[in-house]
Amino acid sequence: MNFDPPESVKPLLDKVERFVADHVVPAEGALLHGFDEKALAPLRAKCKAEGLWGPQIPKELGGLGLGLVEHGLVSERLGRSPIGHFVFGAQAPDAGNLEILHKYGSAEQKARWLEPLAKGELRSCFSMTEPENPGSNPTLMSCAARKDGSDYVIDGHKWFTSSADGAAFAIVMAVTNPDAPPHGRASMIIVPTDTKGFELARNIPIMGDAGKGWASHGEIWYRGVRVPQSYRLGPEGAGFLIAQERLGPGRIHHCMRWIGICERVFDTMCRHVTRRKIDDEKTLATRQIAQAWIAEERAEIDASRLMVLNAAWTIENKGFSAARESVSLIKFYVAGVMMRLIDRAIQLHGALGITSDTVLAHYYVHERGARIYDGPDEVHKMVVAKRILQRYQQ
Ligand SMILES: Cc1cc2nc3c(=O)[nH]c(=O)nc-3n(C[C@H](O)[C@H](O)[C@H](O)COP(=O)(O)OP(=O)(O)OC[C@H]3O[C@@H](n4cnc5c(N)ncnc54)[C@H](O)[C@@H]3O)c2cc1C
Repeated sequence: MNFDPPESVKPLLDKVERFVADHVVPAEGALLHGFDEKALAPLRAKCKAEGLWGPQIPKELGGLGLGLVEHGLVSERLGRSPIGHFVFGAQAPDAGNLEILHKYGSAEQKARWLEPLAKGELRSCFSMTEPENPGSNPTLMSCAARKDGSDYVIDGHKWFTSSADGAAFAIVMAVTNPDAPPHGRASMIIVPTDTKGFELARNIPIMGDAGKGWASHGEIWYRGVRVPQSYRLGPEGAGFLIAQERLGPGRIHHCMRWIGICERVFDTMCRHVTRRKIDDEKTLATRQIAQAWIAEERAEIDASRLMVLNAAWTIENKGFSAARESVSLIKFYVAGVMMRLIDRAIQLHGALGITSDTVLAHYYVHERGARIYDGPDEVHKMVVAKRILQRYQQ
């Protein structure tokens, strides 16, 4: 078994790594001190000019068309900066929306929304979770789309619609078939955000930081929003099926991005402990507690990477259903590794760790959601345990 990245992708990985270190990390102020999309436009243009745009975007749409394993490796490098994915056109939620528009979009939908999305000319959001209902069981959904002539009229209340602020359109999950079995009740419908009745109530503060633009999470009211039925994405009642397809590769993308974050945090931590004196002569690096954490974290990051690449390889070669267990394993495991590492790095930095003078506090606040979105830890653990225990009952 060869654990090296495939030869075909090595030069690209080197190029991406250099671009992130030389251009993206120095531009992070555009996020860390209030997201400034305009300030990042020249950097996105440079990324395109250097042939690095859209690692996961199909070639016919102007991207690099990488497979899941290759993109996972790129994604890790992009994850070394909180703006890496955005600069390269690989950011959530657009990446997931792009995938489902590519697979299910009509010719008209592709021309109007997919093509400009792939070029980074507009942004989008995905509106499924509701404050009044459990997001971890979205079959309990209140948002409804009723037919009226050739239109749908949508009424509902959503929140945690990431990046709604400034998005050109939302893909909304709404109940279209209330009498169908639970997983056949909802459809995905594209709603341009300038449609009458679409109301972005606020960007929700995350531990005090409401963010803006792409770096925000919106609360939205849909009040009698009227769109043509031709804006439905995919078949009626197929909302959950399409959502599952969106989440499978999405979890690999998130996990590899988290490993990139881990590497950045690990570097920051090792650099700090080797410089910070704790008496006249010795640095923090001479203390066993720091050494133990460094060894443990190295082991956990390396284990995470192998697990995620294995899950990506399984999806690519054997299909998603063969990888279901591995995907649930990595979703909770890697999120946990990342959060523990960030916390330990903050601890070793002392007071500096909770300031905004390093990237650590940003990660602590804005990555905590990793253990909640795309399935909370508890749900994934339950999925894994049930499947394992089933094998013992036969
Ligand atoms: C940063 C971030 C970004 C997000 N972006 C989007 C987005 O773009 N679009 C969108 O539609 N949504 C988004 N979400 C919402 C996300 O999908 C939901 O938060 C998630 O599905 C959990 O739903 P909930 O918050 O309603 O929690 P609930 O479903 O109320 O669950 C609360 C807690 O209960 C526990 N729990 C739940 N079910 C079980 C169970 N079966 N067994 C044991 N324990 C359980 C878990 O600890 C869970 O955290 C985002 C969330 C975050 C944090």
